[in-house]
Amino acid sequence: MAHDLIDTMRKQIDEINLQILDLINKRATLVQELGKEKEKQGSNRFDPERERQMLNLLIENNKGPFNDSTVRHLFKQIFQVSLDLQNDDKKKVLLVSRKKQAEDTVITVKGVEFGGGNPILIAGPCSVESYEQVKAVAENHIKRGLRTLRGGAYKPRTSPYDFQGLGEEGLQILKRIGDEYNLVTISEIVTPGDLEMASNYIDVIQIGARNMQNFELLKAAGRLNKPILLKRGLSATIEEFIYAAEYILSEGNAQVMLCERGIRTYEKATRNTLDISAVPLLKQETHLPVFVDVTHSTGRRDLLLPTAKAGIAVGSDGIMVEVHPDPDVALSDAKQQLNIPDFNEFVDSLLASGLYKGEVV
Ligand code: PEP
Ligand code: MN
Repeated sequence: MAHDLIDTMRKQIDEINLQILDLINKRATLVQELGKEKEKQGSNRFDPERERQMLNLLIENNKGPFNDSTVRHLFKQIFQVSLDLQNDDKKKVLLVSRKKQAEDTVITVKGVEFGGGNPILIAGPCSVESYEQVKAVAENHIKRGLRTLRGGAYKPRTSPYDFQGLGEEGLQILKRIGDEYNLVTISEIVTPGDLEMASNYIDVIQIGARNMQNFELLKAAGRLNKPILLKRGLSATIEEFIYAAEYILSEGNAQVMLCERGIRTYEKATRNTLDISAVPLLKQETHLPVFVDVTHSTGRRDLLLPTAKAGIAVGSDGIMVEVHPDPDVALSDAKQQLNIPDFNEFVDSLLASGLYKGEVV
C-alpha cells in the first residue's frame, strides 16, 4: 500500500518535471526570439532592470515552501542559462567557427598544404642573421624534403638592448632563399605599416604572441591577401585567441592559421606551459589549421621531440621548431635552437614514430 503511494507520488513528480522542462524550454525559445528582436533594434540583451522586475514579481507571488532567497537563486540560474543561450547564438556566427564552416580550411602556398591532413614542419632559425646562415638551413630542408622555412626579421625582444632583427634586409634574404629553393617563407611582422612591404618578400605573415591582441595589426592583416600565422598570446585564453583570429577574418582575409606556443603559468621548468588541449579544442571550435610551436613553448631541446609527437597525436596540422647552423652563436634563442644534425635526428625520430609522414612525395 505504502509502496503504491510512493509510486503514485513519483509519477506525479515525473510529470511535473516534464512540465517544468517543457516550460523552461518554452521560456528559452521566447528569450531567444526576444534576443533577436533586441539585436535588430540595437538594444542590449542583458537588462538588469528587467531582471530586477522579474525577481520582484516572483518574490511577491512566492507562496512557499521555498523561501525567497531560494526562489531568487533558482530563477537567477534560469536567467543566466537563457543569457548564455543567446551568447551561444552569437558565437555561432563567428567566421572562424566550425558552425559557420564545417570543413577544414586548407591553405595552399607554393604547393604546400597547411591544414590538408598531412602534418608538416615549419622550421628555421629564430632570427635571420645572414644569407649564409639561412642558406645552410634551406639546403638541409631540401635534402630532408621540407618545404617551409621560418626566420624572424623583426624580433620582439624583452630587452631593447638585445638583437632586434635585420628588418627589411632580413625579409630580402628570405625572399632570395625562398625563390632559390622554392620554399614557403614565414616571418613575423610587428607594425601594421610594414605588412604591405613584407607581402612582397614573404609567403606567410606571422603575428607573434606579444601582438595577438594588437587589434590594429590584426585588422590590417585582415585586409591583406596573404596567409597569416597567428600565435597564441602569452596569457591569452582560448576564447581570446579565437576572437583575435576572428579580427583577421572579419576584415576579409580567410587564410588564417593558429599556433599554440605555450602560455605563462607558475611553472618554471619549461619556458612556457604547452597547452596541449588547446589543439583539439581549437580544431573543434574552428575550421582553421592549428600548429604547435615546440621551441617557444618548452624552451628546452630535450622536450622538443616528445611535445612534437604529442602535438601531432592530438591533431595539429604541423609543428614549428627552430633550427640554426650554429645555435651557440645565435643572436636570439641560442639555448633552445637545434643544430642541423640534431634537427635531422628530430625529423628522423618523428618519421619513425609514424606520426609525421614527410612532405615531398
Ligand atoms: C617566434 O616565433 O619567433 C616568436 C618570437 O614566437 P612567439 O611570438 O610565440 O614568442
Ligand atoms: Mn625564437
